[in-house]
Amino acid sequence: MNQSVSIMGAMLHGPEDLRYEQVRAEPLGADELRIRLGAAGICGSDQHYFRHARMGSFMLKAPFVLGHEMSGDVIEAGPDVAGFAPGDRVVVDPALTCGSCPSCRAGRANLCHNVQFMGSASHDPHLDGGYRDSFVVKAVRCVKVPAETPHKIIALTEPLSIAVHAVERAGALLGRDVVITGGGTIGCLIAATARAAGAARICVSDPSQFRRDTALKMGATDVIDPMRREAVETLDAAGGAFDIGFEASGNAAGLNDCVRMISRGGKAVLVGMIPTMECTVPFNHMTTREIDLVSTFRQNAVFARSASMLVDGRIDPRPIVTGSYRLADLREAFAASFESERHIKVLLLGAG
Ligand SMILES: [Zn+2]
Ligand SMILES: [Zn+2]
Repeated sequence: MNQSVSIMGAMLHGPEDLRYEQVRAEPLGADELRIRLGAAGICGSDQHYFRHARMGSFMLKAPFVLGHEMSGDVIEAGPDVAGFAPGDRVVVDPALTCGSCPSCRAGRANLCHNVQFMGSASHDPHLDGGYRDSFVVKAVRCVKVPAETPHKIIALTEPLSIAVHAVERAGALLGRDVVITGGGTIGCLIAATARAAGAARICVSDPSQFRRDTALKMGATDVIDPMRREAVETLDAAGGAFDIGFEASGNAAGLNDCVRMISRGGKAVLVGMIPTMECTVPFNHMTTREIDLVSTFRQNAVFARSASMLVDGRIDPRPIVTGSYRLADLREAFAASFESERHIKVLLLGAG
């Protein structure tokens, strides 16, 4: 592909100012692949950037292209690349880690001190994301999948990897009872992963009927409406009912409910990003029940395994893939993604 050929992409200029416009096509490095976009999911963090031009402490400093949940097809491979060729279908790990900082050397690359994350303002200059006709990435960050795997399925690899990492941080789930607060993309994928890991009861708590119904399709055994407070209160009064709780709602109320439903000696796994610095947690419950608190950030070394579970169908994400739009229709796509009673995961599709 000629570098001077202009490509189109979704560039964020400020709050609610996401423009479909010509973006720079990068030069191809020797160890890099040029990839034509297959599908890219809209994530909660993309929604935050879209609304507020920031995500927690990460502020937009210069316009950049959003998107970090991408699949695509290789259109060009650099001369030093082995194992990939034009036509290959791939999923892309959006994190470019350094390999040499203390976290990377300790085998915890998700905590890399120098990470560059596609479609995130966490690093300056910001690294452009995947909402583009094509993009260039290092081949080592790509996982090849069978060419017939639908983009609408494998584009879920990145969010699934978050769920798989959370389940790994929880420890063995075989025969365990788990509760998940939050029935969005990550909560539903944790339910599916917990089922694949052999959990017994998989209960999802979410105020939305639509999300509870979807969670049941994704592998939950039962659901709770946390707005009906007696449901949570009864479980709490009984001393909790679950060995492990996953907090995937990203809000303080969800974390509180999660802790209160965990029984003695259990474990709470923090997955959702709670945007406030201050948050009340029922620490007295945690102490008297000796509940361990485990936190998780992004994913570590489970990207290829997550892709393979989507390829072979052990995880079927189709119930949560509620909408797909052409990249050019990104404003409609974002508007749909905010309709939480109709949509869970909205995808932007490449032209190919
Ligand atoms: Zn995401
Ligand atoms: Zn590092």
